[in-house]
Amino acid sequence: MTEKTINTRVREYAYDELDAEDRQLVEIAREATRGSYAPYSHFHVGVALLLDNGQIIKGANQENAAFGAGTCGERSALYNAAANYPDNAVIKLAVTAFHNGDIVPEPCAPCGVCRQAMIEFETKSHKPMKVLLVGRDRVLALDSCHDLLPLAFDEF
Ligand SMILES: [Zn+2]
Repeated sequence: MTEKTINTRVREYAYDELDAEDRQLVEIAREATRGSYAPYSHFHVGVALLLDNGQIIKGANQENAAFGAGTCGERSALYNAAANYPDNAVIKLAVTAFHNGDIVPEPCAPCGVCRQAMIEFETKSHKPMKVLLVGRDRVLALDSCHDLLPLAFDEF
């Protein structure tokens, strides 16, 4: 038996410490929460993607009375990007949420299904996807979405 340790490097920033590109993406993710349809959870997720052509794509969670018909903000943005810019890589993703009248205090993290979807986008593009998990006062930054889901399923 061999025991291994898997490390994940996460950098924590105060909003003011972010560079201009990251600040812009965080602001657009916050704006994107307005596109959320969340009458059941009242948890309005907003996502902003930066593509390698400079294009920014917004996404937001879309709930449905038939719960399985809804989708998360991350996948709404990723599939929008794939449908409209199939030849471009997603190089950065920012996610946050609006709940109880404010941006969530703690950095918002993608669910497991979205982590798996993000990894496949990163794998097929052969470019790392930086991830920004955004809370009201601080942001966690990861260099790759693989850092969010070690030992992910991967058929490639
Ligand atoms: Zn999700």
